[in-house]
Amino acid sequence: MSTIFKKIIDRQIPADIVHEDDLCLAFRDIHPHAPTHILVIPKKEIAGVSAATAQDSVLLGHLIFTAGQIAAREGLSNGYRLVINNGADAGQSVDHLHVHLLGGRALGWPPG
Ligand code: 5GP
Repeated sequence: MSTIFKKIIDRQIPADIVHEDDLCLAFRDIHPHAPTHILVIPKKEIAGVSAATAQDSVLLGHLIFTAGQIAAREGLSNGYRLVINNGADAGQSVDHLHVHLLGGRALGWPPG
């Protein structure tokens, strides 16, 4: 089932897009939890990591590689964190796979 992220991909609702290529889109989170909080999503509608198939392996790697490229461009030379929430216990709220790129401040560990 399509989510709000599909509407962002299709430009039906606005977003602050920082990167786009054939496979993915990246845009700033509407409720940022860090000075830099960007979501990197596949254009393919995959509900979450647990819904990915072996055919999606390269795509999943591309999301992480792209997040690293964006982090460098955003100047996060002091470090950053990539987070993927999957399912209810992780607090996933949008059922379209997304990588959170968080940076610009010291991040606590372990996460809640
Ligand atoms: P999750 O909790 O599923 O891991 O993360 C979903 C993220 O999507 C949240 O951080 C939330 O703020 C963000 N989000 C939800 N709806 C929108 C939206 O319409 N636009 C943008 N830019 N971010 C959104």
